Amino acid sequence: ATMREERINKTKTVCTYCGVGCSFDVWTKGRQILKVEPQEEAPANGVSTCVKGKFGWDFVNSEERLTKPLIRDEEGFKEVEWEEALTFISSKMTEIKTNHGPDSLAFVASSKCTNEESYLMQKLARAVIGTNNVDNCSRYCQSPATKGLWRTVGYGGDSGSISDIAQAELIISIGSNTAESHPVLATRVKRAQKLNGQKVIVADLRKHELAERADLFVQPAPGSDLVWLSAVTKYIVDQGWHDEAFLAAHVNDVEVFFESLTPYTLSYASEVTHLSEEELISIAERIHEAKTTSILWAMGVTQHGGGSDTSTAISNLLLVTGNYMKPGAGAYPLRGHNNVQGTSDFGSMPDRFPGYQYVTDESVRQRFEEQWGVDLPSEPGLNNQEMVEAIHEGKLKALYIKGEDMGIVDTNINHVQAAFEKLELFIVQDIFFSKTCQYADVVLPASPSLEKEGTFTNTERRIQRLYRVMEPLGDSKPDWEIIMAIANQLGGDWNYQHPSEIMDEAASLTPLMAGVNYDRLEGYKSLQWPVAADGKDTPLLFTDGFSLPGGKAILHPVKWTQPLTFNEEYDIHVNNGRLLEHFHEGNMTYKSKAISGKTPNVFLEVSGELAAERGIRDGTKVKLTSPYGSVRVSCLVTDRVKGKQVYLPMNTSGEGAINYLTSSHTDKDTDTPAYKEISAKLEVIEED
Ligand code: SF4
Repeated sequence: ATMREERINKTKTVCTYCGVGCSFDVWTKGRQILKVEPQEEAPANGVSTCVKGKFGWDFVNSEERLTKPLIRDEEGFKEVEWEEALTFISSKMTEIKTNHGPDSLAFVASSKCTNEESYLMQKLARAVIGTNNVDNCSRYCQSPATKGLWRTVGYGGDSGSISDIAQAELIISIGSNTAESHPVLATRVKRAQKLNGQKVIVADLRKHELAERADLFVQPAPGSDLVWLSAVTKYIVDQGWHDEAFLAAHVNDVEVFFESLTPYTLSYASEVTHLSEEELISIAERIHEAKTTSILWAMGVTQHGGGSDTSTAISNLLLVTGNYMKPGAGAYPLRGHNNVQGTSDFGSMPDRFPGYQYVTDESVRQRFEEQWGVDLPSEPGLNNQEMVEAIHEGKLKALYIKGEDMGIVDTNINHVQAAFEKLELFIVQDIFFSKTCQYADVVLPASPSLEKEGTFTNTERRIQRLYRVMEPLGDSKPDWEIIMAIANQLGGDWNYQHPSEIMDEAASLTPLMAGVNYDRLEGYKSLQWPVAADGKDTPLLFTDGFSLPGGKAILHPVKWTQPLTFNEEYDIHVNNGRLLEHFHEGNMTYKSKAISGKTPNVFLEVSGELAAERGIRDGTKVKLTSPYGSVRVSCLVTDRVKGKQVYLPMNTSGEGAINYLTSSHTDKDTDTPAYKEISAKLEVIEED
């Protein structure tokens, strides 16, 4: 053993498992992980972590890691050297671009990867290939929240810091399984409830852990949140409880908005949402009584046909009650992936450059053209959903995906997998041979977060550095190095020696990030965007105005989009979300023995009522069938769900994978798939 292997090293990193952005020291000896040690100075978590952050790292040494590039021929995949893989990729990409034009290629960045890697992915698409066909998985989760906030307050980010949430007198959590999806943040809420007398309202289909602890727990009908939110807003206005001074000083379009609330009477809302009028009034009263209200929301709101409008209704309610521009108040869309915020911030979007600058804006485009020394396309590109359709239509020929198991996590995956079969060139870059890799022509071995440097941006817009804890395994490489190698093979002439140089370039082109550099992010230091050129950051997003013309917010009227409903045949509503122990499709956590030993598989939560009706017991195996596909899974009878609503965690890529059931239906404003609108029929296939 070398000296280095014998030495114990302590290296700071940022957790890769959720948007809370916990940071901590990892103790290692060679590749052996000895322990994870959170530090007081960690801005998001202090000395806390959850089970994933604490124990979920041994996947990095899994024998299943990809360590060599793979190319597929008639006989299957064969290992090749990097040079061969890069030559193959560049010649195929060039051929497709020459024959079908730059828009026949598309790129999908990863929200598990760093900001610098998102920046390079969009630069590869735009500057080297000449297409705006680049997107990332926030399309699958939080784009509607971002849209709702852009429309009303101008920035699509959390209003304050995670620590501010503890200051709120009232927390409303909507469609967020917070204790399992954002565990450390939920711990903050639980502590504030206990120590500061914070009140908590939970609106959800399912009685999850935070719901159990809530001061008021309401269970609206699936997909009806916009209606109760609007009714509560109307009731507040009718009582004269709105914040007139705040509206006069900071908000436009007030009267038109108030008028738009007319249909949302208590009786109408009660009929649609199945909440009682007393419950609706109680929510309004609690908001009225609290000096500060923060609203937390997640996929239960966004993954619907009207997800953007419901997110808008949340922001409208906050504006009407003056719940912006002070700590403890505001909007907190909870970001799922560790870097779902940053991947969009750094430009992997079909219509925006880094910092949300429009590709259609000529002066912006010119700035990027000058810096990059090329002409850039001015038309917005395809988003993830449109890419799948464009492949089916024969317009899109090549797809390069990094760190995203799109063949399992997108909706209606039978349709997506059929699209992959039609591609002329399919490049998948990942740390494991995922389901999506099975369809690839080339598989590139990437390095996980512990093996690279870079930055992540958590849910509170906080940019934090991660340091290399260990060397890349085998011939795997950090994603930024792979993207640069591909760009250079295509004649890009990129020469970044370190991710800090990528950040410097990105910051120089992005007013939102103007003052971001690695010195200012050293160790546990962090910055919350917007960051001015002098390095001043913005913990509280709005202090004296909003990021819209004249500094004024806009009350944006919205209408309810009825969710897809059940019929007699497909009579079960399949809700879905996470398990505490696992991350997404489980590509990482199932390969961590410490984690998978605790929860070896997913299960379907079934109510006592449904169990009695269908003869289901714990362990009974059932088949769920929707119009798009079917899954097989074992049941757990629980009072967390009610009636014909069942809950299937999304954390598997096996025969229980939720997306065999989902449709291609999407949010009308952002194309985010309506993962939460699934109806299915249920058959018992095997008694336990
Ligand atoms: Fe990681 Fe999220 Fe758990 Fe923190 S709360 S340790 S960021 S998974």
